[in-house]
Formats: sequence, C-alpha cells, structure tokens
Amino acid sequence: MIHTLPILSYALDGLEPYISKETLEHHYGKHHKAYVDNLNNLIPGTEFENKTLEEIIETAPAGPIFNNAAQVWNHTFYWESLTPQGNIIEGMNIGELILEQWDSLETFKKAFNDVAMKTFGSGWAWLVKKPDGSLDIVSTSNAGTPLTTDNTPLLTCDVWEHAYYIDYRNRRAEYLEKFWNLVDWEKVEERYNGI
Ligand code: MN
Repeated sequence: MIHTLPILSYALDGLEPYISKETLEHHYGKHHKAYVDNLNNLIPGTEFENKTLEEIIETAPAGPIFNNAAQVWNHTFYWESLTPQGNIIEGMNIGELILEQWDSLETFKKAFNDVAMKTFGSGWAWLVKKPDGSLDIVSTSNAGTPLTTDNTPLLTCDVWEHAYYIDYRNRRAEYLEKFWNLVDWEKVEERYNGI
C-alpha cells in the first residue's frame, strides 16, 4: 500500500494570521511529506507492506516504521483539527461536556495549554474521549498517539518546535494561545460522536 500526503481542505495561507503560509510550506510540505516518504521507503518487504496506516500504528514495535506511520497519522489529524478562522463551540454537545468538566471554556483552554507547555521536548497535546465517554487532556512524546490506547482522540496540537518556530520562534505559549482561533469544533464534535 502506498501512503499519500492528504490534500488539505484549505490553502497554504488559509490559517493566517495565526499560522503562516511559510510554516505550512515547511510543516505540511516538507515535514509531513517526509514522514509519508519515509514510511513508503521503510515498509516494502516487511509485514507492514499491505497494512493500513492505523493497522501499522497499532502493531508496529517501537522504531522507525511506528514513528513515521504515527507521525503521518498525527499530522493529518492535526490539519483536520483546524479550519480557517476556526468556528464557535457554543451550542455544541462537546461544548456542554467541556463546561461540565472544566466549568468554563477558558479554564479548559488553560488546562490544555498547561499540558501542552509541560510536554517536554517534542510531542503532542490531545483532547481525548475516554471509554466511559468523559473527556481528558493527555500529552504524548515524539510520535506517540492515543491510537495505541483505549482513548479516542478528538483534538490535537502539535508542539514540536517545527510547528511554531517560524512564526513564534521559541514562544510556544503564544502559539498555543493563537491555536484556539483555528480549532474546528464541528470536527471535534463529529469525532466525539464517532462520525
Ligand atoms: Mn509536526
């Protein structure tokens, strides 16, 4: 199976002014593409050759095949978590669930950003749905992904430096603050509902 770089639903400048076209040219066009190319170069002749991306992530041992497969999946999930100018959470079921657990959207964002800030080095911050339907915020390192857990990922923020260094240099907190302007809550709600 040949894995492909997904086509974005927005233009490379579609996330401006929060994430620049230059960042997408590198992050999507070079980093994400490199994970796809690496994976396609690594799997021929292995047991993973004919597996889907999800099957590879769920079965590959720690190492280059897992790392590249998970990074392909995580990045696609990240791009699909975002939409130009974002959309509003008010009126959505996911908004009600967040209010039940965190009292306010601002408290939730602060808790998420704290997890993202405390992710040491390279990694990801995630909003996930636990098996009992409740929400949680988790961090994964490097290529780590909730796909290998019982949790269902709903939203992610890439906190590898390559996600923000062009636009924000070392200011991860500023990138995290701006990230919320782009979140596609309709997509998060769909994911919660298993669509
Ligand atoms: Mn990245």
